Amino acid sequence: MTHIFPRHCQASSPVVMRGDGVYLFDHNGKRYLDGSGGAAVSCLGHSDADVVAAIKAQLDKVAYAHTSFFTSDPAEELADRLIASAPEGIGRVYFVSGGSEAIEAALKLARQYFIEKGQPDRHRIIAREQSYHGNTLGALATGGNQWRKRPFAPLMIETSHIPPCYEYRGREAGESSFEYGQRVAEALETEILRLGPKTVAAFVAEPVVGATLGAVPAVEGYFKRIRQICDRYGILLILDEVMCGMGRCGTLFACEQEPVHPDIVTIAKGLGAGYQPIGAMMCSGEIYAAIESGSGFFQHGHTYIGHPVACSAANAVVKKLVGGGVVEQSRIMGARLKKHLIAEFGQHPYIGDIRGRGLFVGLEIVQNRETKAPFDPEQGVHKAIKKAAFEAGLACYSMGGTIDGIRGDHILLAPPFILEDNHIYELTDKLQQAFRDVF
Ligand code: PLP
Repeated sequence: MTHIFPRHCQASSPVVMRGDGVYLFDHNGKRYLDGSGGAAVSCLGHSDADVVAAIKAQLDKVAYAHTSFFTSDPAEELADRLIASAPEGIGRVYFVSGGSEAIEAALKLARQYFIEKGQPDRHRIIAREQSYHGNTLGALATGGNQWRKRPFAPLMIETSHIPPCYEYRGREAGESSFEYGQRVAEALETEILRLGPKTVAAFVAEPVVGATLGAVPAVEGYFKRIRQICDRYGILLILDEVMCGMGRCGTLFACEQEPVHPDIVTIAKGLGAGYQPIGAMMCSGEIYAAIESGSGFFQHGHTYIGHPVACSAANAVVKKLVGGGVVEQSRIMGARLKKHLIAEFGQHPYIGDIRGRGLFVGLEIVQNRETKAPFDPEQGVHKAIKKAAFEAGLACYSMGGTIDGIRGDHILLAPPFILEDNHIYELTDKLQQAFRDVF
C-alpha cells in the first residue's frame, strides 16, 4: 500500500536504495546500469563525493534565504561560472528549480522584453513539431509533441509549430543535407510571414532534440539560417538546452557546436546532476539592459529561485564539468559508445538510425530498415524494450511517437560521463539482451 501518486497507476516500481558511480541498487540489492542518467540528468553518476560535500558544507552555513531579501555566495559564484563559459552575448542568469520553470521564465522574459522595447504586439511563440519543452502549461504549449498536449489543449496559450530538422526522415531523395536544412529553416520565415512579423516574439528550439526525437542534431547550416531569419524580423532565438546542455553533447553548451548565439538559453538536468533540483534561464546582456533601464524588474519569481544549497551543488558540478575535464569525457566516451553501438546494432534488422552527439545517443527502432516503416504503435515496442532492459539490469529512456507523436519508437542513451569502456560493453550487451527478449 502506498500513498504516492505514481507516474503510472498500474506499474509498481522497485525502491531505489543506493547509488554508486554509474549504478543504482534497489531494495533487493539488484544492480542497474544507469544508461540514461534518469532523463539525461545524472552526468556525474550517483556518488560524487565533491558534490555531496558541497551540499553538506552549504547546509552547515545556511539552507535557504528568500531572494527578495538576499543574494548568496553560491548563487553569485555559480552565475559567474556559467557566464564565463556561456555563449557569446549571454550576460545574466536567472536560477529556477527545473527545466519547465526555465522555459516559463524564458517565455515571459521574451514577452516582457518586447513590452519594455515598446513593441507590445509581439507575443507569439513559434517552436517545432516533435519537440519537448516541459510539462507546465506554457512549456507544454511550446512543445510540439501531440500526445502530451492533446488533453490540456483548452488550457494552453496559442503557439505555432514548424517541422523539425530531422534528416533521417525528412530529407528527400536528391536533396543534400545542407539543402534539406535550408528548406526546413525556411519554414520559419513562412510561418513568421503568415502570423505577421511584428506579432512574433520568439522562436524556441532544442539544439539537439532529446526526449521526443531521440538525440537528433540539426544538419549543417540549419541554425545559421534560423538565426538569420530571427534577426531579419527582430525575433528572439531561445535555445532549450535543458536536456542537451551541460556537457551532454560534448561541449558545456550544445550550441557551441553550431554557429549561432541564442538570445536566451535554458539549462537544467545536468546542471544539478541529480544532486539538487536546479535549472536556469540565461539571457543576453541586451535583454537584461532593456529590463534594467525599463521597468527595472522582471515580473516573475518563485519561492525557491537561487536556492543556496541547489546552487552550491551546481557549482561543484560545473566546476568538475569545466575545470575537471568531465565535459571532455562526454565527448570521448560518447564517440566510443557510438562506435560500439554501430558495431553491435549498425546492421540490426530493427534499428534504422544511430545518432547523437557526445553521450547523448539515440537509436531509432523500425520494422523495416529499407522502407523505414515503424512498428504498429499498438505493439508498444519502446515500452517492451524499456521493460526488458530494466529486467536485464539496464535503465534506458525509450519513447514512442518519434515520427509524428503517434508512430515510431526510439531509445535514448545518456549515461553518466564517468562511464568506462566496460560499462559500454555491459550497456550494449544488456540492450542486445532486451532486443532478443522482445523480438
Ligand atoms: N526542455 C527539455 C528540452 C526537456 O527535455 C525537458 C525535460 O525532459 C524540459 C524542458 C522540462 O524539464 P523538467 O522536467 O525539469 O521540468
